[in-house]
Amino acid sequence: MVAVTADSKYGFNKLQKRIRRETGKAIEQFGMIEANDKVMVCLSGGKDSYTLLDTLLYLQRVAPIRFELVAVNLDQKQPGFPEHVLPEYLQQLGVDYEIVEEDTYSIVKDKIPEGKTTCSLCSRLRRGILYKTAKRLGATKIALGHHRDDMIETLFLNMFHGGKLKSMPPKLVSDNGEHVVIRPLAFCREKDIARYAEAMAFPIIPCNLCGSQENLQRKQIKAMLSEWDKRFPGRIESLFTAMQNVTPSHLVDANLFDFRAVTATGEADENGDWAFDVPPLSHEQTQQKGPLSDPANAIKITQIA
Ligand code: SF4
Repeated sequence: MVAVTADSKYGFNKLQKRIRRETGKAIEQFGMIEANDKVMVCLSGGKDSYTLLDTLLYLQRVAPIRFELVAVNLDQKQPGFPEHVLPEYLQQLGVDYEIVEEDTYSIVKDKIPEGKTTCSLCSRLRRGILYKTAKRLGATKIALGHHRDDMIETLFLNMFHGGKLKSMPPKLVSDNGEHVVIRPLAFCREKDIARYAEAMAFPIIPCNLCGSQENLQRKQIKAMLSEWDKRFPGRIESLFTAMQNVTPSHLVDANLFDFRAVTATGEADENGDWAFDVPPLSHEQTQQKGPLSDPANAIKITQIA
């Protein structure tokens, strides 16, 4: 860990506690880890996966149940991949680990024409190798380092470009049906993870060694969310709360809610639907900076309502 001054120590402790608490909460809430599980932690060398491993190692020490951890890195043979970094770091931690070497880089370069995006084939190959590794190691869970902001971005990607109201699940069965994949950082903010990784001085391996550009659509959504975060404090938190608070009867998916079965009950419900009125905003929402607090826009909104 980098040297911290007495002043910043308090801030660091709070940050570390928050990440640990939120990870513990996700594990508990979604039933991610059970007694005697062997959790394969996928370590790419990025800030998220280092934070994941570090936090799971802490939780393993304090949890009332016993579970095993094994860190796995897939060396995809990208040019310039610093092979020594992860083994040195993992040996120093004293954690069980395995480096799997598979030259997916050459396969991808060979199969995908120059200039086309390589990520989908690359991820498919990586996924298959990780599943095979999990099976060989007898892992009962596969842990990935995706966090809250990845989940929110994916929600918007799917809405804007896929016509689906769907994000990234905190826990799912792998597509080959054989493994349970978990995302213990589901409640952690990317900002916190970035600060934590910096304070801990994790030996980060750059993620652009393959030369591929970050997905442009995801980049645009990231920029949109970051702009919202600056202009409307609390909006991202509210969005994530909304993802945990779904009302299928107030969406339009007839597979999720049986609208045909809706009939009058004859009984008043004071908490029932605001069928004709716009639901009122909370005090916090009306205090947010931005279009809603702009009197001109407020007039337009009132007129529409
Ligand atoms: S950025 Fe590179 S390594 Fe990552 S998924 Fe895309 S092609 Fe693969």
